[in-house]
Amino acid sequence: MNDINPSIGCTVTSCKYHSDTQDYCALQKIQVGTHEPNPTKAECTDCQSFSKK
Ligand code: SF4
Repeated sequence: MNDINPSIGCTVTSCKYHSDTQDYCALQKIQVGTHEPNPTKAECTDCQSFSKK
């Protein structure tokens, strides 16, 4: 993708919504969630809009 959303920085290059040219997401909006019952640190959270390239 060539589009970028300057409000969503992202380094996950294996996602199909990652900008091919810069470390940004191309989506207008992403959904963030958690896989933990009681999240306590950043590693507990996930981008749930991720889709494998
Ligand atoms: S959908 Fe999530 S993981 Fe994929 S590029 Fe956007 S912010 Fe990154």
